[in-house]
Amino acid sequence: MRSGNDARTDIADAHVAGVAEETSWRVPEWAAIPRLAHGFLGRAHGLGAGAFDLDLIRRRIVAAGESPRVVLATRQVHGADVLSPEDPAWAGLDWHDSGEQLPVGDALVSASADVILTIRTADCVPILLVAPGARAVAAVHAGWRGLLAGVVERGVAALAARYGAQPATIEAAIGPAIGGCCYEFGAEHLGRFVERYGARAETAWRAGTTERGHLDVRRLATLALETAGLPPLSIRTLGPCTAEHPAVLHSYRRDGANAGRQLSYVGWRAD
Ligand SMILES: [Zn+2]
Repeated sequence: MRSGNDARTDIADAHVAGVAEETSWRVPEWAAIPRLAHGFLGRAHGLGAGAFDLDLIRRRIVAAGESPRVVLATRQVHGADVLSPEDPAWAGLDWHDSGEQLPVGDALVSASADVILTIRTADCVPILLVAPGARAVAAVHAGWRGLLAGVVERGVAALAARYGAQPATIEAAIGPAIGGCCYEFGAEHLGRFVERYGARAETAWRAGTTERGHLDVRRLATLALETAGLPPLSIRTLGPCTAEHPAVLHSYRRDGANAGRQLSYVGWRAD
């Protein structure tokens, strides 16, 4: 993890110095990829509590400086279905539909210009993938259920199957999510992660004094990306723990049903 760790250090330093915290996160090196647009938008630029319609999401993307022809979002269900703008699920969709009417999926892939893919998270892990050679991108919503369902591996596989992107050439950015510091989690599920990722999954777990311990979901997301074939050095982690930074990040564990959502996006600008 290159810039990710640097970025975290910068944030920590800024905090100590009393400087305003960051409110959105981007991979500095990705600025050099022609026409790539991406970002993890925190509380100030994301979505408040309530319905998430495409119109509002589009306004946030425009406010972030983008002007895409199409902005896509899905109805996220903590599953592993991967959607693409080329899928029939998008045909006939009213672009101003409310969240309830959007097609169901937890990962989006695209190689189309002028299209922005978005996902919404409050503690779950937002992951953006870029395959520069294949000109393909993906946005993945990965909570613990999605990780167990294989949403990360399926997103990477879709980039390979649809656009010929070899996993070894894919770059990943893992955005702000709840940290192992704050995420209380039942021990009964740990075995399923060990089954999926081997003994390394235990490094994402810290036992507590009760049957509950703490889970580092971003560590699990990293293992999922490595399992899918990404080189460890191509995986970056950006931003702090959502639960500990109420001024800049939404957190479902902290705010419950009133939690808003972070908005993360990736896509290709028009040629
Ligand atoms: Zn924390």
